[in-house]
Amino acid sequence: MKIVILLLLSLGNFFFSIQAQTCGFDEKIATLAKKDPNIYSRFEQLFRNKNTPNHRQEIVIPIVVHILWNHESQNISDETVHEQIKILNRDFNNQGDLSIIPKEFRPYIATKKIQFCLANTNPKGLPSSGIERKSTKIEIFTGIYENALYSSSRGGFDAWDESRFLNIWVANINPDILGQATFPGESHTFDGAVIHSDAFGTHENTNSGLGRTLVHEVGHYFGLPHIWGMDNGCEFDDGIEDTPNQETHHFFCPRHPSISCGSPDMFMNFMDYVNDECMVFFTQGQMDHMINVIHNQRSGLLDFACKEIVKVDDNENYLSPNPTHDLLIVHSKLIGEIQIFNSIGQLVMNKYKPVGQDTHLDISRLQGGIYFMWLDGWVILSRFA
Ligand SMILES: [Zn+2]
Repeated sequence: MKIVILLLLSLGNFFFSIQAQTCGFDEKIATLAKKDPNIYSRFEQLFRNKNTPNHRQEIVIPIVVHILWNHESQNISDETVHEQIKILNRDFNNQGDLSIIPKEFRPYIATKKIQFCLANTNPKGLPSSGIERKSTKIEIFTGIYENALYSSSRGGFDAWDESRFLNIWVANINPDILGQATFPGESHTFDGAVIHSDAFGTHENTNSGLGRTLVHEVGHYFGLPHIWGMDNGCEFDDGIEDTPNQETHHFFCPRHPSISCGSPDMFMNFMDYVNDECMVFFTQGQMDHMINVIHNQRSGLLDFACKEIVKVDDNENYLSPNPTHDLLIVHSKLIGEIQIFNSIGQLVMNKYKPVGQDTHLDISRLQGGIYFMWLDGWVILSRFA
């Protein structure tokens, strides 16, 4: 039977430990709590809202990766970024090595999934790889909130619209920390995850070399606490029904069973601190909680991004003339609403298109510039000034 969460902890009861390289989540929460004691109740609120709409069958989260490098080895390749996205998609669909999960925990393996993609339009609606990179003179970004990391003018990168993109910064951060993440509603400027350059993608011969630091941090980003809760002890747990109450974290690759709080610990869960090769799954309770958080606190992520950009000369769906001044003809067999967005993603025109007909649009009231239309893929159109 679960003990209700965590959160009405007094600061006196709250402590954390940092050994070797860990996640910065607990340390950050403790730091924030000194300035804002309501931080706990805001986190707890994430567990109260269970109002999940059923109409969305698929969740795909658009990601932008901001890479900052001081040494060439930190200039993570595009291939490594793509590999890391694959790891996210594998692990948020529980397709890792599930054979290491003890039989007693297998009924709790999540069957739902969350998917990820690199954003292919930027906040202005323009095509993008979802990856941006630059060299920086800053050798180490230290501290829980290293402002320079989140500021383009100070050597880092500004966040993309945090309501629509999962921002991930990759940099040489405090060497004691592999990564950290914000929980929903915590911060606009810093919202997202930060991953140490050495723990992003796969690396040989390290405890964190299989790309699961980001899996763990994205768990926090979607509102999961560590599996032992936010304190060391058995009084409070993580608030998730199907994870056993657990006293504290594990490092390396422990042997099952590791007993605490009267039951075997689920240390092979992504939200413990074990080595990457020994963390392999989320429970259904954790997945349900994350999906609830996405629908209720991060629903903007479900709109707009990660759509394929089609070529303007696609012979099924295209516009003519393009560029144009007044008249635009939409050639497409699609039926439904035609929508035109400006370069910052605002809807500026819409019209219903009947089946099987070319549709004429008068765009004379639009200003000159670049616009986007969804025709089974993004089509770029431009109007003469
Ligand atoms: Zn963590």
